[in-house]
Amino acid sequence: MGSVSLVSAALRRLEGKVALITGGSSGIGESTARLFAKHGAKVVIADIQDELGHSVCNDLKTESASFVHCDVTQEKDVENAVSTAVSRHGKLDIMFNNAGIIEKTAKPNILDNDKAEFEKVVGVNLVGAFLGTKHAARVMIPARRGSIISTASVCGTIGGVATHAYTSSKHGIIGLMRNTAVELGQHGIRVNCVSPYHVSTPMVKDFLKLNYDDEEKLVYCNLKDAVQKAEDIAEAFLFLGSDESNYVSGLNLIVDGGFTIVNPGFC
Ligand code: NAD
Repeated sequence: MGSVSLVSAALRRLEGKVALITGGSSGIGESTARLFAKHGAKVVIADIQDELGHSVCNDLKTESASFVHCDVTQEKDVENAVSTAVSRHGKLDIMFNNAGIIEKTAKPNILDNDKAEFEKVVGVNLVGAFLGTKHAARVMIPARRGSIISTASVCGTIGGVATHAYTSSKHGIIGLMRNTAVELGQHGIRVNCVSPYHVSTPMVKDFLKLNYDDEEKLVYCNLKDAVQKAEDIAEAFLFLGSDESNYVSGLNLIVDGGFTIVNPGFC
């Protein structure tokens, strides 16, 4: 009996932890919310898609999952989401800045790029991650612990894969992560990123449908010869949120099936 409970405790790698996940109503954020809950975390999903977010929480059939409306471009919303997680569960251990968008249409020519659209993408992806990091740090600094993780992308390391705004925002997320990892380390807070390549989610499916004739070529140019599933990427966030990565900070963990090795530019 005793050994059985020891084993199940070891399998629940986030037991007792509280995680706030932006963009948790869909795709990578949703899969990560499900995996975190399975591993014993209390999860708060923060998103603009309220209905979907509530339905993910209901589906998890646990009081450990709840939803808060949050537009990550609005500082008050982000501040409120962090405060809500703390008031519901007493603390915040993991801040997962994951909400993201890409332009509807790929415009490879810079001259076709529109300032408002550029600002919109950078606003959600980069400013959203900045606000999440800032307000998580507000409660993690006094607690002297925490793990802040953001979803970057292979587009944050190499050029030519996605649109100008998206690529700029993801490079920015990695820069923000590195700077805050240096600063917040002294407070016992770890800061990291995960960089996926192509994961089959609503955001990417919509973008590909509109912009690419040859989806197969885009999908299969990695070493594993397969599309990544959101569930696979979630495992990387689990590692960075758990105590198993206690000594990992300032890392951009590339989880791309070898895509960036095979294609230092774009295939
Ligand atoms: P998705 O569209 O399934 O999920 C994105 C979520 O973000 C949605 O639930 C959406 O409602 C939410 N969101 C959008 N704007 C928001 C805002 N202003 N405030 C709060 N929430 C907002 O797409 P996904 O692929 O799961 O994307 C998740 C993250 O992964 C994004 O940061 C994306 O850039 C990144 N990413 C995705 C891929 C991929 O291939 N799917 C690859 C690399 C990186």
